[in-house]
Amino acid sequence: MTGPAPSTGGQTPGGLAALREELCELHSRLVSSGLVAWTSGNVSARVPGTELMLIKPSGVEYQDLTPESMVLCDLDGRPAAAGDGSSNGLSPSSDTAAHAYVYRHMPEVGGVVHTHSAYATAWAARGEPVPCVLTAIADEFGGEIPIGPFARIGDEEIGRGIVETLAGHRSPAVLMRSHGVFTIGAGARDAIKAAVMCEDAARTVHLARELGDPIPLTREDINALHDRYQRAYGQR
Ligand SMILES: [Zn+2]
Repeated sequence: MTGPAPSTGGQTPGGLAALREELCELHSRLVSSGLVAWTSGNVSARVPGTELMLIKPSGVEYQDLTPESMVLCDLDGRPAAAGDGSSNGLSPSSDTAAHAYVYRHMPEVGGVVHTHSAYATAWAARGEPVPCVLTAIADEFGGEIPIGPFARIGDEEIGRGIVETLAGHRSPAVLMRSHGVFTIGAGARDAIKAAVMCEDAARTVHLARELGDPIPLTREDINALHDRYQRAYGQR
């Protein structure tokens, strides 16, 4: 899908700089929300109007991330030069192929987040979806938070598992079996929100199950809740 000579297309250098700033700030949200340990986890953003994405550099600790350290890649996951020919020379996250696969196959997606957040990943370790037993889960995920297949890290297998699983769900989050959480959104901030809400749901349903059997919501109630939340919630 991508051409041999990536360019920033309609994206102004100022727009790319602003996206770098936002992506750096959003990585700090993963830390402040308690979703990541050491260098695990990453956020990427599609560069609007281009065949490019920005993603966290590989193996750099969160406190050392800067806007300039975010790595520009094409949608095959290869580092790319910016419109002015510049490149920071850093290697992109080891999950870049998965993010790139999602952008290639889901044109509506503008941001992708990956974490090993504890409670959600505990569900992934059991290969068990988080059931839709709370209004907040119906609002945000429109049903259970699904389980994706086991896939080895490094190539497109993870990306394929994410896309194939989410294609059959309204959920913006998937628990990749024996691995962790991937979330999508119209932008990177939306994908961060889904990652935070996914961990919150996984934790609360875990606590509920410690004490008994959570009560499932009906399909009718889930649909009504999801529809109201997606259309009418918040400031318009
Ligand atoms: Zn991972």
